Amino acid sequence: MQTITASNAHTLEPVPISFGGEWHKLNSVPTTPVHNPSTGEVIAQTPMCTASHVNQAVEAAAVAFPAWAETPATERARVFFRFKTLLEDNFEDLVRSNTREHGKTLVESRGDVRRGIEMVEFACGIPSLLMGESIENIARGIDCDTIRQPLGVCVGITPFNFPAMVPLWMYPVAMVCGNTFVLKPSEKVPLTAVKIAKLLEQAGLPKGVLSVVHGGKECVEALLTHPKVKAISFVGSTPIAKHVFETGTRHGKRVQSNGGAKNFVFLMPDADIENSVRGVIEGAYGCAGERCMAASTAVVIGEAAKTVLPSLIEAARAIKVGPTDREPQPNMGPVITRQHRDRVAQLIEIGAKEGARIATDGRSVKWDGAPNGFFLGATVLDEVQTGMTVAKEEIFGPVLNVMRFDDLDSAIESANRSPYGNGASIFTRSGKAAREFKHRIQCGMVGINIGVPASMAWFPFNGWNESFFGDLHMQGKEGVHFFTQQKVTTTRWFSFGEGDIWHREKV
Ligand code: NAD
Repeated sequence: MQTITASNAHTLEPVPISFGGEWHKLNSVPTTPVHNPSTGEVIAQTPMCTASHVNQAVEAAAVAFPAWAETPATERARVFFRFKTLLEDNFEDLVRSNTREHGKTLVESRGDVRRGIEMVEFACGIPSLLMGESIENIARGIDCDTIRQPLGVCVGITPFNFPAMVPLWMYPVAMVCGNTFVLKPSEKVPLTAVKIAKLLEQAGLPKGVLSVVHGGKECVEALLTHPKVKAISFVGSTPIAKHVFETGTRHGKRVQSNGGAKNFVFLMPDADIENSVRGVIEGAYGCAGERCMAASTAVVIGEAAKTVLPSLIEAARAIKVGPTDREPQPNMGPVITRQHRDRVAQLIEIGAKEGARIATDGRSVKWDGAPNGFFLGATVLDEVQTGMTVAKEEIFGPVLNVMRFDDLDSAIESANRSPYGNGASIFTRSGKAAREFKHRIQCGMVGINIGVPASMAWFPFNGWNESFFGDLHMQGKEGVHFFTQQKVTTTRWFSFGEGDIWHREKV
């Protein structure tokens, strides 16, 4: 694999932006570096777009909108059938790009790209979800029907942790519904998103239907306030998600805004040990814990502290961490940046100071051959209490909190005090306990004998509380409803119109 060292980072060309069907290199704007987290090397420079670049991108999408909206939904979907084939043909290239800029393992990158492809598969079937409803004779001689029409220019702003999947949560659905789109991927991981956008063009997307801009706050503010933007999809941390929702709606836009999370895996005393340990370990340390559906807290109930917890800690200690841009692959890769690694390490320290017991400490892990990578080993903080900083803040790293409770009731009560509401799972052999949990837990995605489950493309990605701001979620039918507006037509035909053959025959 070709790498570029930090010393020649300044010679890297900025990642291109796209509008009107052309890719443009911005040579005179400030940039921010993209790293390979496995080595710490700078591999690209992301240009920080200004309001004027955003304006060009939105205007181009607005120009492309009428023709794309008039294109039959079946034809729009056909572009995405071809796109799906191209994604499959280029699968391993996308996987390697994803791992190189994000740091997750190749297996995890395959999951990231595969979940994105599933969104495209869902989008290919959207024409049947655009069908309206109708009723004859809602009143005497009067018929009524609904149709769904696109909104116009829609915007997607995405986080760093799923470079392939999260952008694909948004624009395939928006576009098959007839909208044009401006994507702003995370400035930390713009490369895979650009590769995927180029494949969509290759699939025959008309010029201007997709624009891509890059940047941070200035770029986002311009997107949120642009008068020609009709709808905004956002995924990122809770404070920014809230800000995006408030600013977007204040400017009259439809907004769906996914935020951060703290997710709970309940381990009942009767849980199957092997399966529940696997569920927690994969959930807590997959993608180095940088997932909004990470199993960030193991809720250990009663005797599970004796039956399950020891195996859990042992499994965390066995996780091998290392660079993911080469073979052999480790179990877990680095986190996204050096600053983020330091923040997570600091949170572990704060946890210990506030009374958590460090059962295994990832800060002490050493790596050969990749001294500048952003590594942190798997950490378990036991005896975490509700009021502690590590219980309240989203750590977003390879740290598993363990909270102990005497019974299911008190555990549910504690979990329900979390301000977030993405996901929670329970491992048990008791149908009664599982039913109680499903009924009472205050979050939008529930798992029973499965790790915290991220909904698949056909179901809404269903955050509650501070994990989601808006009404209609991404994915599934709600996604289609978000990107369309309904029109209700009430029709009456009089029998004495000019040229009415029935009327003429009667006289
Ligand atoms: P982030 O909030 O820092 O960034 C997300 C996007 O917002 C990026 O495109 C970024 O450029 C932009 N942004 C950052 N600061 C901004 C500001 N001040 N004003 C305007 N825009 C700004 O998030 P991240 O660190 O890239 O991603 C991790 C977060 O995303 C975690 O909190 C994670 O839980 C969350 N996430 C949530 C979901 C979900 O579906 N709920 C999915 C994935 C990630």
